[in-house]
Formats: sequence, structure tokens, C-alpha cells
Amino acid sequence: MKTTGKRYRVHITGIVQGVGFRPFLHKLALERSLGGWAKNAGGAVIAEIEGDPDECAAFLRDLEEKAPAPAVLRRINVDEIGMRAVPAGFKILPSDGQSGLERFLPVDIGLCEQCRSELLDPLDRRYEYPFINCCRCGPRYTIVRELPYDRERTSMRSFHLCLDCRFEYEFEDDRRYHAEPNACWECGPQYAFLDSEGQSTGRDALDAAVEALDDGRILAIKGVGGFISFVTLPPLRSSSACASSSIGRRSL
Ligand SMILES: [Zn+2]
Ligand SMILES: [Zn+2]
Repeated sequence: MKTTGKRYRVHITGIVQGVGFRPFLHKLALERSLGGWAKNAGGAVIAEIEGDPDECAAFLRDLEEKAPAPAVLRRINVDEIGMRAVPAGFKILPSDGQSGLERFLPVDIGLCEQCRSELLDPLDRRYEYPFINCCRCGPRYTIVRELPYDRERTSMRSFHLCLDCRFEYEFEDDRRYHAEPNACWECGPQYAFLDSEGQSTGRDALDAAVEALDDGRILAIKGVGGFISFVTLPPLRSSSACASSSIGRRSL
């Protein structure tokens, strides 16, 4: 039980959900031996920290200076509150709906380098898995249905984490700690290829899509942000065909 020191309540608004901000606060608190908690609340993050006053001040400074790159901090309100004499340790608490009026939707983030190397590693369990993501990358805006941003309020809700993914999601030192869209070949969304003759899934779907293009068919690929149409242009045979085909290529 820690009974000396100070305790602060911190209210942070901006793009702070879906960017690994609570795990970031958790790590900062452990580095400074501070107790407390953090949670998503409405469109904000609220945290309480308790411990040595100098360490609390360093935590608040680092919070602004070392926030993960996708986060955009718009406002930070800090209030000193009474000590709670709670057990040491820092927890991420379940979200609640309380917040101010400001709400910022988390943004989609392009694939990070670590996920890219896993995607291309034949020995990795997510080798060629198209929906790979982590705390630093992946869909956010596209999958969120309402705030606070938690898995149960995204389109990932119906995909139940397998044991390996759940371990990553709950293990504090993992970069997928509280990565809400966490998924893999075993438990996450899959490729599906549909045509007039039926459906194939997984890696077979990718092969079927390539075959369709080779056969000269038009392919519509649904991604996280909408549809993109693909077609294989025929070989160029004349100057007029060359002109129209070039325009076609540019428009893609
Ligand atoms: Zn990543
Ligand atoms: Zn999984």
C-alpha cells in the first residue's frame, strides 16, 4: 500500500483512442513506479496516477513529449486529487461513456514495418494474412461503430480472439496489447472470392482472383475503405489503341 506522494486525474482529448495510448500510459507509469489506471471514456482518455511527486511530474511531461506518433493531443487537463491508498500497479480499466463534448474518431493507419516483415515471413503465423495489424497500424476509422473505441464497438466484434491472439492482446509487453482489430488466419476475417460459380476463401481466394484477371475478367476488390476495380488490358496493337489504353492505365 502506497500512502505518500500525490495523485492526479488527467483528462486527455484528441486522437487518443486506437493509437496505443492506454498501453503507452501503462508503460510510462511502470517506468516511473506510479500506480493508477487509464481508460477510454467517450472520445477521450482519462487516467489517474499516484506516487512520488517528481515522478508524477515526469510522467505528465513524458505524456506530452513521447506520445505515440498517430496520437494527436488537443487538450490535457490535470487536477490534483486526494490520495486513495490503493494497491500499487497500473491498470487499464473497462471503458465507459463519460466524456466531454469533444469526440475525435481514430484514423486508419498504414502497415507498420514490423507487421510488413511478419506478413512476408513464411515462418510467421500471420504469413500472407491480409488483415494483419498491431497497436501502431491497421484499420480504426473504417471499423469503428461508436466511441469509446473498443473491440466490442467495432466490426471486429463478431471475431473471437484465438488463444495466441488473446495472449498478445492481454500481455502488457506485447505490441498488440489492446490492439482492438488484432486477428490472424485462425480467428480473424478471411479473404473471400465470389463469382457466378461459387466462392473460395483464404489463400485459394487470392489464387482465384489472379486467375480471373489472367482470364480477362473484371475484378472488384473490397478493401477496408471501399471497392477498387481491376482489369487486365489487352496487348497494344495500334497507335489509337495505345492512346486509349494509356489513359485507362492512368485512371487506375
Ligand atoms: Zn503494425
Ligand atoms: Zn488469432
